[in-house]
Amino acid sequence: MTTTRKDHRAGYRYILVNILTMLPFIPLFVIAWRRGSSGIWDHWTWTCIVLFVLGAIFGLWYQRRRETRFRCPECRTLIVGPIDGLRIGHPIIFYCDKCDIRWETGSTFTSSE
Ligand SMILES: [Zn+2]
Repeated sequence: MTTTRKDHRAGYRYILVNILTMLPFIPLFVIAWRRGSSGIWDHWTWTCIVLFVLGAIFGLWYQRRRETRFRCPECRTLIVGPIDGLRIGHPIIFYCDKCDIRWETGSTFTSSE
């Protein structure tokens, strides 16, 4: 019989990974900002800007990928795709068929981009 459980640490993990993946790009932004506002537009300034923009694109892609994948806390199986897909305003729920558990992540899909 299918049971429904809530992964209480899913939101915490989501925010922690978001912060950790953003950290390397903050110095690039600060360096580009300081050099640009000082009127220094050499190849280092542009390199920082390009790397920061690439980091932002990667961050958006990685975030979307993480919204559609979930590791079952019981058996560690990687589940790809929430039960109802990603629909705006709907909770993100994954089903592990090994454990027969519906996992509520506590997150709601909010963007269609
Ligand atoms: Zn499982």
